[in-house]
Amino acid sequence: MTIDIMTLFPEICETVLNLGVIGRGIKKGLVDIKYHQIRDFSDNKYRRIDDAPYGGGGGMIMSAEPIYKCFEHIKSLRNKHPFLVFMSPKGKILTQNLAKSLKKHENIVFLCGRYEGVDERIIEEIVDLQVSIGDYVVSGGELPAMIVIDAILRMLPGMLPSEENFTNESHYNNQLEGPQYTRPRIWHGQKVPEVLTSGDHAKIKKWREHQSLIHTFKYRPDLLDSSRE
Ligand code: SAH
Repeated sequence: MTIDIMTLFPEICETVLNLGVIGRGIKKGLVDIKYHQIRDFSDNKYRRIDDAPYGGGGGMIMSAEPIYKCFEHIKSLRNKHPFLVFMSPKGKILTQNLAKSLKKHENIVFLCGRYEGVDERIIEEIVDLQVSIGDYVVSGGELPAMIVIDAILRMLPGMLPSEENFTNESHYNNQLEGPQYTRPRIWHGQKVPEVLTSGDHAKIKKWREHQSLIHTFKYRPDLLDSSRE
């Protein structure tokens, strides 16, 4: 899989992605990530990539042309038709299922907005899907893109020790994971449930399935509504 990120802050993205489990996966070559500074595609001598909005109002808008040129450059590198995701509070809200469907694309490009956003015509012209991380606004698309990318990459083969590491987790099967414990067996007077120290794997599996339902019912009963998308 390849991921290209179009941004004004490549250093934010690099720092975040090079850490932890995803960073190790990148080092192992499981995914090829490239960071593209949109300013490099400005034809202005001050490397400007934004301008005032038509019709007035505060803030600045990212111009279409540098983004377009940056995307053309990515296409020439990757030699394919990459799938272009624009991070936007107007987008489809990220869920585990959306991450699963994005994972099917071999080449994904993320466009991170800043300021008041981007010229609408770039969305019309090249964007395949707008994705949001929730119903609130943050200052830039970089952190939202990092969240989407992390959610996709941790499901790639080889990223985590085994598939079970993510298939047993919250949201993978539309329910939450049950409680987890580690040493010591008794902490502040609270005991680890006995079944977990019984060594009976079949019993433990059953208990975990049951607890998963209990946690879903307790914390997110809406997930149990079968009419939900
Ligand atoms: N004026 C815009 C918000 C601009 S915020 C509006 O009212 O819709 C600047 C950039 O941050 C956006 O272009 C987008 O890339 C990113 N961003 C902000 N909130 C986001 C969210 N909830 N999900 C994904 N990206 C977001």
